[in-house]
Amino acid sequence: MKVCKTVRQIKIEINKAIRAGKSVGFVPTMGYLHDGHLSLIKRARKENDIVVVSIFVNPTQFGEGEDLESYPRDLDRDCRLVEKEGTDFVFAPSAEEMYPHGYMSYVDVEGNITKQLCGKSRVGHFKGVATVVSKLFNIVTPNKAYFGQKDAQQVAVLEQMVRDLNFNIEIVPCPIVREADGLALSSRNTYLSQKERQDALILSKSLIEAEEMIKNGERDAAKIKNFIINNIKTVEYADIDYVEIVNAKTLEDLDQIQGDVLIALAVKIGKPRLIDNIRLEV
Ligand code: AMP
Repeated sequence: MKVCKTVRQIKIEINKAIRAGKSVGFVPTMGYLHDGHLSLIKRARKENDIVVVSIFVNPTQFGEGEDLESYPRDLDRDCRLVEKEGTDFVFAPSAEEMYPHGYMSYVDVEGNITKQLCGKSRVGHFKGVATVVSKLFNIVTPNKAYFGQKDAQQVAVLEQMVRDLNFNIEIVPCPIVREADGLALSSRNTYLSQKERQDALILSKSLIEAEEMIKNGERDAAKIKNFIINNIKTVEYADIDYVEIVNAKTLEDLDQIQGDVLIALAVKIGKPRLIDNIRLEV
């Protein structure tokens, strides 16, 4: 496995592979990898000749007062983990390499899809995501790119971007990987104290119980939403950013549970703001 830190280096490697007729699978990450990330790499490994993983804590997707500086980083550990999964190339650029002095261009997916859910409280977040992913797509030129359904809104935004900007790249959404007790894996889980880690289970539990209510015939979105909110409020210090029930593709609010349904939430449990969701066809 080769670790490339500059755009020039990774482009040389990928051009060689493409000239040799190889297909390229790409997994963009911010590092501090866990089994959720590794599940994307495993899938990419199965479906492509070469696998490229990027590790870059992208400053443009963090807002003021967010955790850019304290975001956990450990490139050596990450490289050991991805090498074991059969990754061919790691692209780990510096912030200056991606946004050199005089950088000016941004990609903004406008409308409901970026204004809802995380877009409300994290203004500019998806502009940072769309910008860095566009740059990475242009650098890596993959055939397929793998993203976790954990960030369901990110998948919806990037699918829109790929359609709108004619990227010849297939976005492959992959299922959420959870701990045995249900907590969705996240690099930010490392911020949780032992008690918070235990209390954070209220998120996945509420979603599972909501799914059960829907399976038992409940179709009133407001009822389901209130049920989840009241459940989360049993952890008194939990700070709810949102609990929303939307169409999974358009992210438009649903009154009735019907079609391709996404129930998504973001809640601060102590320091970290955690997100989780379930998607179901009704
Ligand atoms: P991040 O490093 O948080 O930017 O995540 C990189 C990729 O891994 C994104 O596509 C995430 O959606 C995905 N990912 C993060 N956590 C999980 C998880 N628990 N299960 C599946 N994919 C995940």
